[in-house]
Amino acid sequence: MPLVGCHHCDAVLVEPEVPDGGAAICQRCGGTLFRRQRATVEITLALSTAAAILFVVANAYPFLSFEMQGQTTRTTLSSGVFALWDGGRYVIALLVLGTTVIAPALQIGLMLYVLAPLHFHRPAPFAVEAFRLVERCRPWSMIEVFLIGIFVAVVKLSDMAEIVPGIALWAFGLLIPILAGGTSFLDAELVWREIGDLD
Ligand SMILES: [Zn+2]
Repeated sequence: MPLVGCHHCDAVLVEPEVPDGGAAICQRCGGTLFRRQRATVEITLALSTAAAILFVVANAYPFLSFEMQGQTTRTTLSSGVFALWDGGRYVIALLVLGTTVIAPALQIGLMLYVLAPLHFHRPAPFAVEAFRLVERCRPWSMIEVFLIGIFVAVVKLSDMAEIVPGIALWAFGLLIPILAGGTSFLDAELVWREIGDLD
């Protein structure tokens, strides 16, 4: 029979049956053992699909245009990375590429890869490895830090040039709460169990 450990008092208990949307309470200390997220696969799948669309828009379109002395410069995410690389800042260029493109792309792509077949109760090949990688990628996905950096730059540059926010900036802004929502609605324990049952 499956056992569960209490994070608050370290008691090891027999795992109780919990309905979707409910929570299990520790018999000894009254702390919450775990919660069962309602429709976790469906909600997380919907949010991941939205995130994938926004991520493509955020990378394909310019996020800022600068107008200075009649000249307009458009910047995309990749042009920023190339500018850093050309300036000899190789480590920073790779860090920006890793934390704003590669890690979020892996996180979103692998979530879709694991959850879409799970919705139809069919196993994805290497679902265990893929879901493990999702959990590894999450701490490296730092779009919100990047967006704060953009806002700081915009405030500093606003005296020198006229700045026009592009469609990618709005896509980035929307992507952050949607990715955060995907993380909070994801019941990893439930997904692990379903992957395990399917194998
Ligand atoms: Zn306890």
